[in-house]
Amino acid sequence: MKVIAIANQKGGVGKTTTALNLSAALALRGQRVLLVDLDPQANCTSGLGIEVPEGGSMYPVLIGERTVFEQLLPTGRENLSIVPSEMDLAGVEIELARAEDHLTRLRNILQGLKPNDLFEYCILDTPPSLGVLMTSALAASDEIVIPLQCEWFGLEGLAKIVHVLEQIRGSGANDELTLEGIVMTMYDGRTLLSRQVVEEVSKFFPDQIYQSVIPRTIRIGEAPSHGKSIFEHDPVGPGSNAYGALADEFLARRAGKAAAVAAS
Ligand code: ADP
Ligand code: MG
Repeated sequence: MKVIAIANQKGGVGKTTTALNLSAALALRGQRVLLVDLDPQANCTSGLGIEVPEGGSMYPVLIGERTVFEQLLPTGRENLSIVPSEMDLAGVEIELARAEDHLTRLRNILQGLKPNDLFEYCILDTPPSLGVLMTSALAASDEIVIPLQCEWFGLEGLAKIVHVLEQIRGSGANDELTLEGIVMTMYDGRTLLSRQVVEEVSKFFPDQIYQSVIPRTIRIGEAPSHGKSIFEHDPVGPGSNAYGALADEFLARRAGKAAAVAAS
């Protein structure tokens, strides 16, 4: 099982949309996926139409009152499970900050899922801040995927998150964390700016940027209000095509890396 954080400390850049739809796309491709909603705002949870049982989030696990296995919830979709979120998860920011092992607690919890071979991927949706939940997510992850909005401020945000990634590596909590990919979101092909931002990121991160760019579409934006992934809400539209292509590229990239390692 690979743990992948969908992260960017900036809000509104498409983290939740990407965590949800990439997870759904991988599940549709036969990969067993666990989506963990680590944002107290619970947008990923509600975006999939999940009713959260009381105490159903990661919170009781992080404070040592339950195991992660007790919190696994089916989503009604094949191959896709979730650990949902609810507002109480915000309490972690205060309670864990006092704990000495706050950076590694989530890591140890998720490591516990690895030997069971229940999932191929564990995808973490993270909150838009540099608090305990976000840094714990980075410390717990094998890889990070950064969604980046196609606007100028996106580039400043990218520099910041890459810096945080280096700090986590340097902290000793997780020195193997890799930047797996950068997904360009809310692309508007009619604007020069969108094209320029993609070009700029390609220049500095040619191996990380995904060729599959996510367009800004009304259907992607409205799907969560119906509790649906884009594949359920608009199965043959441009949003489904883009997130489907992203999942294909995500899988092809790791198949390519595995082949390169085998050949060396
Ligand atoms: P974050 O999790 O980074 O805060 P979200 O994924 O919640 O960002 O996206 C912010 C808002 O933009 C949400 O209302 C979402 O539905 C909308 N949105 C995200 N991606 C797209 C897109 N490609 N096209 C249209 N709207 C989008
Ligand atoms: Mg979000």
